Amino acid sequence: MQSRKSRRTADEVPQLRITQVVEAGLTNAKGQVPIFEDGTGHTLLVAIDGHGDYIEIYVAAGWGNTEQRIELTETPCNYGGTRKWFLCPECAKRCGVLYIRHRIACRTCYDLTYSSQYEHAQDRMLRKLKQIRRATGSDPDIWGPFNLPPRGMSVKRWKALIEEFEQLRKKYWRECEKPRKWRNSAPKAHHWKVGARIPTSPL
Ligand SMILES: [Zn+2]
Repeated sequence: MQSRKSRRTADEVPQLRITQVVEAGLTNAKGQVPIFEDGTGHTLLVAIDGHGDYIEIYVAAGWGNTEQRIELTETPCNYGGTRKWFLCPECAKRCGVLYIRHRIACRTCYDLTYSSQYEHAQDRMLRKLKQIRRATGSDPDIWGPFNLPPRGMSVKRWKALIEEFEQLRKKYWRECEKPRKWRNSAPKAHHWKVGARIPTSPL
């Protein structure tokens, strides 16, 4: 049996999101989508040939060529419209992210784990923020008001915790803004369609 330590984390395997395919308009067209291999800064291109209810994926990478037909499905959204999904070619379950190496599969089939080492700074901060709110006897809503100090806690300690909370919440907010800025200014996937010129990134 594989030990937990030897399992790869999700960040280590190149991944393709269904939103990338939809935004590039490739569910029913031919084109390419860049995916990123974390750590190396290396950009990998995924060629996609969309046929409406399935797409064909082709990747030429260091490990060789990967070619796979992926079925698509959709579910209705709360406010009308539909949301598209991949069907994992191994377990046939709906998934929003496919992991690509020699084979293509969902996170479960790849047996990938989310290591706390790779946990997003945002998640860590949010957990800490909620911890502080619990300690002060307040509800977990980080934008809500604080309750008065709980029985047994000095006002001094209570104020110090709130001060720590405010500082961390500022950091958390900045951290939340980062990916949004990146998303807004990053070259969009459709820029990589075959024949299109690759725009220069402002980053
Ligand atoms: Zn699967």
